[in-house]
Amino acid sequence: MEKKSVKDLDLAGKKVLMRADFNVPLDSDKNITDDSRIQAALTTINYIRESGAKLILMSHLGRPKGQRNQELSLKPVAERLSQLINQPVKMVDDCIGDEVKEAVDGLKNGEVILLQNLRFYPQEKANDQDFAKELASLADLYVNDAFGTAHRAHASTEGVAHFLDSAAGFLIDKEIQYFQKVLTEPKKPFIFILGGAKVSDKIPVIENMMDKADSIIIGGAMAYTFLKVEGIEIGSSLLEEDMFDVVKRILTKAKEKGVELLLPIDHLVTDDIKKGENIKTTEEADIEPGWIGVDIGPKTQKEFSQRIKGANTIVWNGPMGIFENDLFAQGTKVIAQAVTESEATSVIGGGDTAAAVKKFELSDKMSHISTGGGASLQFLEGKDLPGISALSNKG
Ligand code: AMP
Repeated sequence: MEKKSVKDLDLAGKKVLMRADFNVPLDSDKNITDDSRIQAALTTINYIRESGAKLILMSHLGRPKGQRNQELSLKPVAERLSQLINQPVKMVDDCIGDEVKEAVDGLKNGEVILLQNLRFYPQEKANDQDFAKELASLADLYVNDAFGTAHRAHASTEGVAHFLDSAAGFLIDKEIQYFQKVLTEPKKPFIFILGGAKVSDKIPVIENMMDKADSIIIGGAMAYTFLKVEGIEIGSSLLEEDMFDVVKRILTKAKEKGVELLLPIDHLVTDDIKKGENIKTTEEADIEPGWIGVDIGPKTQKEFSQRIKGANTIVWNGPMGIFENDLFAQGTKVIAQAVTESEATSVIGGGDTAAAVKKFELSDKMSHISTGGGASLQFLEGKDLPGISALSNKG
């Protein structure tokens, strides 16, 4: 069922409660060190206030564990947002209660107020219905634009939506459009690139993507468990022995379904990840005892890249190696470049993959970079996101 977008709401003169993701990094002096999450919410914020609504913003920040903690006040966000929209943003030191109601009642059309950190209340994460109702009582309409927390059923992301006419903001709307496009009507060939640390974290994703993709490329640490099951020596690389049966099942299922699984055929290895002094490339897929696979090798980069360049749809989740270290980043970089050189609609999962693409300055060459790690993974698992499911349906 198609969800309402903020564009479907009649906003003028209304009080609009908007859930944003202002969970920004702060230094010890409470300066915001990266404001990209605030920047990302600006399109929806500006649209709502310029439509003549009274905008009530809410978010969580950090992990106050259900207790008031001034170290995690959203005040720095209110200040930064004021600068970005060139208009004062009022700040109240709570998110429910009489003081908040009074401040909201004092708002004029086009004005903006930010509520205090939602997670000062344990009821937020518990999705407490009374707490959600209190939040809803502040407004006429609800807009969710916090994709990063849309996979969590919290009071401000799920509970509140049941009490108000509710819609997706532009950020969430764009995420829905792209994920729907690649998951329900992918233009073939569809290649799914999977990497990262653990097989165990990604089993539901692999299972779901086997029903959709033509080929699955597997890199990163998780590739070693697959290789080991195939009888290849992996030295001291990361191994999840308890995943052997799962991996065998995946390999069998892929054969049955005719989905091609591509694994690395050579590797970059080191004998000490921290020191990174001794680094070499293997000739074959086998790794000698004592050596650790830290990235895909040059032959693999070439083979994977050729495949990727011929795709019409690409979804990518997880780096090909320990990309945070420049010494082990080449494989992930080459794959990112190949994605940009394809004609494909490319959707990049949030979290580490988005960070990698940003590091290589290739972000603007991708069709869509998801703003949520956990949330995008849940889309790829084929599961509903509670913060989206709870929004009002269109029509
Ligand atoms: P994930 O959150 O599952 O996508 O995993 C991302 C993490 O996997 C990154 O921090 C990478 O450094 C790590 N990673 C990728 N390849 C390897 C590898 N060969 N050995 C150890 N860690 C890896």
